[in-house]
Amino acid sequence: MSLDGQYDEGNIFAKIVRGEIPAAKVFEDDDTLAFMDAFPQGDGHTLVVHKRSRARNLLDVEPAELNAVMATVQRVARAVRTALAPDGIVVTQFNGAPAGQTVFHLHVHILPRWEGVALGRHGAGMADGVELGALAAQIAAAIV
Ligand code: 5GP
Repeated sequence: MSLDGQYDEGNIFAKIVRGEIPAAKVFEDDDTLAFMDAFPQGDGHTLVVHKRSRARNLLDVEPAELNAVMATVQRVARAVRTALAPDGIVVTQFNGAPAGQTVFHLHVHILPRWEGVALGRHGAGMADGVELGALAAQIAAAIV
């Protein structure tokens, strides 16, 4: 998958937005949705997507949609800090398969980091659903 291509309505995040498959939701407004990464690189690994955008990546997203996504990224990152007290927070976003993108619906990763705790591999093991739900609730409770 390159930087160019058709938006696939059947991608996994489109299915999550449509409620066709479950996700541990953290935050939702009219435009955006934040939910836990099911194959997290660490505790609190959260993803933010636009709910109506058909952008595959940063290069084809409408600026207004990007603004909405980034406002939610900031809001959720603040809540992650309050809820989980990390020492740092990584915000990442991949464009095209060679850059590490695996789901072609624009999304931003929020990854809390703690001193001395190594990051897990991108897209490694699936998290326990109950644990993910508990983390999502903890972060959601800290949203302001
Ligand atoms: P990308 O590699 O495209 O930047 O990130 C896609 C992310 O989606 C990966 O971190 C992966 O763990 C996550 N992911 C893949 N499938 C699912 C899923 O079904 N549910 C959730 N919540 N996350 C997923």
